[in-house]
Amino acid sequence: MSIDENISKIWEQKPSLWEEKNLQTRSELGDEIDVFALKNFQNHILLYNPAILSKIYDSTHTIIQKEVEKWSNKTGLSSFFKEEFSSLEEKRKHKILKSLIEEHINTITKKLGLGVLSLSSVNFEENKIEVKVNECAEAHETSTIGHPICFNMASILAGEIGEKFNNWHCYEKECKASGSNTCKFIIAPQEQINEELREFLDLPSRISFTLQGKITSMISEFKRDIDYTPILEESTNRLSYILPNMDGRDRKKLGSDIHLKGFQQFYLSFLNDDFEERGKTLYEVGFESGKRFSKIISVMGMRSQDKLNVLPRLFDRLGMGLLELEKESNGYKVRVKECGYSYGLHLEEKICFYNSGFFSGMISSIENQKFEGKETKCSGNSSEYCVHSIQPSEKEEKSD
Ligand SMILES: [Zn+2]
Ligand SMILES: [Zn+2]
Repeated sequence: MSIDENISKIWEQKPSLWEEKNLQTRSELGDEIDVFALKNFQNHILLYNPAILSKIYDSTHTIIQKEVEKWSNKTGLSSFFKEEFSSLEEKRKHKILKSLIEEHINTITKKLGLGVLSLSSVNFEENKIEVKVNECAEAHETSTIGHPICFNMASILAGEIGEKFNNWHCYEKECKASGSNTCKFIIAPQEQINEELREFLDLPSRISFTLQGKITSMISEFKRDIDYTPILEESTNRLSYILPNMDGRDRKKLGSDIHLKGFQQFYLSFLNDDFEERGKTLYEVGFESGKRFSKIISVMGMRSQDKLNVLPRLFDRLGMGLLELEKESNGYKVRVKECGYSYGLHLEEKICFYNSGFFSGMISSIENQKFEGKETKCSGNSSEYCVHSIQPSEKEEKSD
């Protein structure tokens, strides 16, 4: 199956999928991923190039929308929203929408651990629905950086709610990352959202952009002026909390678990468009992340030779996989069992670029020599393990 089909599968509208039973079970690690794994990945994308983050919106919302449409047509909901809904009394409309968002869609987003939804306001005259999302995973304990960052949630809301109203779009108006105490999303017809964004960005009306183009340009603008060091501090602080407290995985207490499928959907959304180019980018993002991680644990007083020993425990603690590292004559081999990125997927490709980059970046920093990694087997691609082969770079560059 393609990346798109794998994302579709996560969003298949099957009520049985969202019942109490687990969606999928990793026999040793279970289905929980520490939300820090998602935040850390997202943080390193922000540090690499924040504009990449907004790119997940367009393709992901279309995939979800198609799944919702299939379900709506099957159940007759589609004709209800397109025909009867508009003639109902305001009160009744409000009630139906509230139940759609707070009962139906909430079941899914809560199960995936991505956020808790509530209908904040609705104005049918102005064609505008406002949804509040508490505990949004993408903004969990986030630093304030002055602009919204929850593009995955925006794509979910556009797909799930927008579909009912002639494919309305969604954008995040307020976010914990922009200094608000919760995340707030507007769902409205695309033209209207374009206008709101135009005002927000102070763009002349003759400039016509696609919605995604607008958001990307908005973030690129921000990139020039914004100081992303709080993001780096955020990851560092969280790691320095986790590293000394790695025994046991009592994450229920931390209240910071998301579902494996929720994490995978987030990761896959970075790959479902221009796979090769995005793969390279995720490798580079991972590489920088690995180098930073090595530096952070140096500062915490860990000796070079102990640094790699900490990885299996960290991955286990975050629910990201069971690691085995092996030093070979000319490099390293890293095996990942029950990999958080790829376990249980049905893909033709190997997808754990971020991990390959992360291991290579970390080893480059430890060995003070540039290493390059390649995934030779991937559990998303019918192998039991993912295997990353990390070899000295032929270019013989010195790592900084
Ligand atoms: Zn947000
Ligand atoms: Zn893999």
